[in-house]
Amino acid sequence: MAGDIETDNDALYIARKKIYPSAVQGYYRRLKWILLFLCLGFYWIAPWIRWDRGPNAPDQAILLDLAHRRFYMFAIEIWPQEFYYVAGLLIMAGLGLFLVTSIAGRAWCGYACPQTVWTDLFMAVERYVEGDRNARIKLDAAPWSATKLRKRLTVWTLWLLIAASTGGAWVFYFADAPTLLVDLFTLQAAPVAYFTVAFLTGTTFWLAGFMREQVCTYMCPWPRIQGAMLDDRSLIVTYHDWRGEPRSRHAKKAAASGADVGDCVDCNACVAVCPVGIDIRDGQQLECITCALCIDACDNVMGKIGKPLGLIAYSNLRDYEDSTVLAAETGRANATRMHKRQSLATLFRPRTVLYSALLGVIGLGMLYALLTRQSIDMSVLPDRAPLYVTLSDGSVRNGFTLKLLNKALESREFRISLDGIDDAGMWLADNRSEPARELTVRVQADSVSNVRVFLLRPEQHALPADFSFAVQDLKSGETTRVAAHFEAKASQ
Ligand code: SF4
Ligand code: SF4
Repeated sequence: MAGDIETDNDALYIARKKIYPSAVQGYYRRLKWILLFLCLGFYWIAPWIRWDRGPNAPDQAILLDLAHRRFYMFAIEIWPQEFYYVAGLLIMAGLGLFLVTSIAGRAWCGYACPQTVWTDLFMAVERYVEGDRNARIKLDAAPWSATKLRKRLTVWTLWLLIAASTGGAWVFYFADAPTLLVDLFTLQAAPVAYFTVAFLTGTTFWLAGFMREQVCTYMCPWPRIQGAMLDDRSLIVTYHDWRGEPRSRHAKKAAASGADVGDCVDCNACVAVCPVGIDIRDGQQLECITCALCIDACDNVMGKIGKPLGLIAYSNLRDYEDSTVLAAETGRANATRMHKRQSLATLFRPRTVLYSALLGVIGLGMLYALLTRQSIDMSVLPDRAPLYVTLSDGSVRNGFTLKLLNKALESREFRISLDGIDDAGMWLADNRSEPARELTVRVQADSVSNVRVFLLRPEQHALPADFSFAVQDLKSGETTRVAAHFEAKASQ
């Protein structure tokens, strides 16, 4: 039965065909190089930027200090209690990705995704040592020889160095970079640091060196998700078949003989440069990472044969359809003349406006929170067992633990006082004294102090009451208040 025969198209597994992208020059290639150096430059240099925070804090500008549970970013210091800042940043990053995708398709994949950036760098190394596309195809097909071995070992060594510096740079974000560098080389660093460096070195070497486009096509969920974010005004790399077809390798001859030929000369330059090995002339494909290198390749060809650039270009579906209709009605040459590059107006669509508005609101909210951020914080934990104690004279005592956060980089004296429970007095649990309305405590720089206090209402049969603890920095006057509840027997 015909249905029982498994063809190549039915196979669940298709062996990978190795891709040998050729070098290309052009606008998008230059843009990609610039972004690559900016991204990698920042990644490698950032942990080495110093930032003086005084004697009680690390002087690394960007530091995720897991041991002391702090995140430092230049002048900003985030405590674990302030994780909402990190959550806000993650939400903004997600919205930013949605916004970019709805405007320019998979621009993230094509220009800034780590897999793309490192793969690009690894390919550049490969090209430098082994030569361009044809030389690499030839070398791969050749039997093992001293030359082939030397070239392969050189490439793998250079890849390994890049991969090791990638894994190495990552751990510097979690500890003082100069100290950790010395520790790593003198075998004094923690095992987790060596494990992280080894793991990231291995994954970078394997994913960027050997897996390459398979990560984007099979492993990454983003190509599947992004479909929901595109609409007919999103920019995608598009082959204008209304202009290019029917393609011909002998366009001049065909035109001279009166044949109707398009601008595509079927040179395959766009296919040869594609890092995922597809032919954009077959239409939109899941594999396309929108790197635009085929645009550069085709523009170079169009320039050489004296045709208008943009046979392959960033275009949206609506423009593409309008141009197709125009070409059918008025001719290919006219449609090419009339075809415009994406207008700025298409940037402003309901979804892009919504994403931008959400980004703006969250960004402004976070900025406001940062600018008005207090350097004192307090949380109040009432004793649970027992809720209250009735003393022999009928007065009622409650116990509280006050967690005082001193976010400043110097030790400070705080005054703790009571608001709204006029007859009560308090004392420090570890220093019994006469009940007072105010207590003074010192909290070390950049730390949390647990202060246990007892509160006493001397009245006979005191009732439950709401009140608040106030804590004030004696030097600056900065004050914060936290509501609390005095427990007692509800009614007599
Ligand atoms: S088809 Fe063009 S844009 Fe898409 S991945 Fe290939 S070269 Fe990049
Ligand atoms: S590079 Fe341009 S002209 Fe050459 S095959 Fe691709 S689309 Fe056709």
